[in-house]
Amino acid sequence: MIYVACPFCGSDYTHHGDVEVYVRDRDDGESQITLVNAKSKKTALMKDELNANPSWRRNGIRIWFECEAGCQEVFSITIAQHKGQTWVSGLKLIEL
Ligand SMILES: [Zn+2]
Repeated sequence: MIYVACPFCGSDYTHHGDVEVYVRDRDDGESQITLVNAKSKKTALMKDELNANPSWRRNGIRIWFECEAGCQEVFSITIAQHKGQTWVSGLKLIEL
């Protein structure tokens, strides 16, 4: 079993909240975001005006987390497509 740990304090007490899904019609095209708001349980579709897509040219996903212990910082994990590969970043994992 592997747990996501807080990258700030190392605690394995974290929970995920909002999820952003970025899609493009074509490589290097404009991104659209589907935002899933964890608190309101609603979704919204919008343009990626801030160029926040974790993938430079293709699709991406960002999952927001909060630390439940210690520091209570907010951090994210991203998944990005890049030239046929899938990159994952922002992870600090603990194997138990
Ligand atoms: Zn923490």
